[in-house]
Amino acid sequence: MAKSYEDIFENNKKWVEAKLAVNPEYFHDLAKTQHPDYLYIGCSDSRATAEELMGVGPGEVFVHRNIANVVNTLDMSSTAVIQYAVEHLKVKHIIVCGHYNCGGVKAAMTSQDLGLMNPWLRTIRDVYRLHQEELDSVTEEDKKYDRLVELNVQEQCINVIKMACVQERYILDEYPIVHGWVFDLRTGKIIDLEIDFEKILKDIQKIYNLTDSDWVMSKKNNKNFI
Ligand code: ZN
Repeated sequence: MAKSYEDIFENNKKWVEAKLAVNPEYFHDLAKTQHPDYLYIGCSDSRATAEELMGVGPGEVFVHRNIANVVNTLDMSSTAVIQYAVEHLKVKHIIVCGHYNCGGVKAAMTSQDLGLMNPWLRTIRDVYRLHQEELDSVTEEDKKYDRLVELNVQEQCINVIKMACVQERYILDEYPIVHGWVFDLRTGKIIDLEIDFEKILKDIQKIYNLTDSDWVMSKKNNKNFI
C-alpha cells in the first residue's frame, strides 16, 4: 500500500518490472485492444476495488463506479458506459455490486439535507420507499442497513434491464446476463444475490418494453449493425 504520493510511482515501476519479467510483450499486447467479458458497476468506496476482489487483471473487466452503485436514467455517465459495454464491447455479463457498510446507503437512511448529494441519494431513498414495508419491519438498525444495500443492488439491476440496448442485445445474442452482488467488507467475500434475470426481464418488459423483436432481428441481418 502507498504510504506517500511518491510511493505510488515506485509501486508502478515495480509493477511494470514484474509484468515484463513474466511476459516481455505484456504492455505491447495490452495496448492493442480490449475484449472484457464483464461490465462491473460498483461503489466508488476505496475498499471495494473491482479487479482485486474479482481476482482479474487489466483487460478483463470494464468498470464504472459511483457513490452507492446507482444506475440513474438521467445519469449520462453510467448509461453511456452500459451502452458502450453492451453494443461495442459486447460484454457477456453485467454485474451491479454493492457493499455492506456503504456510506452512500447510510447517508440515504439519515434525515438531513446533504446538498448536492440529495438528488443522487434520492434514488436510494426511492428504493427504501419501494420496499418500505419490509424495511420498516426490520427492527435492528444494522440488519436494516444491510438489507437496504441488497435491495439497492436489486433495484439498480432492474434499472440496467430497463435499458433498450440491454433488451435488444439479449434478443440478438442471449446476453448480457445481469447479476447482483454484495461485497462483504467484513469477510472479503462476494455474495451473489442470485437475482432471476430472465424473470425480471419478462416482468420489466410488460411496462418497459423498448424492443420490437421483428425490428431487432432485421437489424441483425444488417451487417452495419454494431
Ligand atoms: Zn459504498
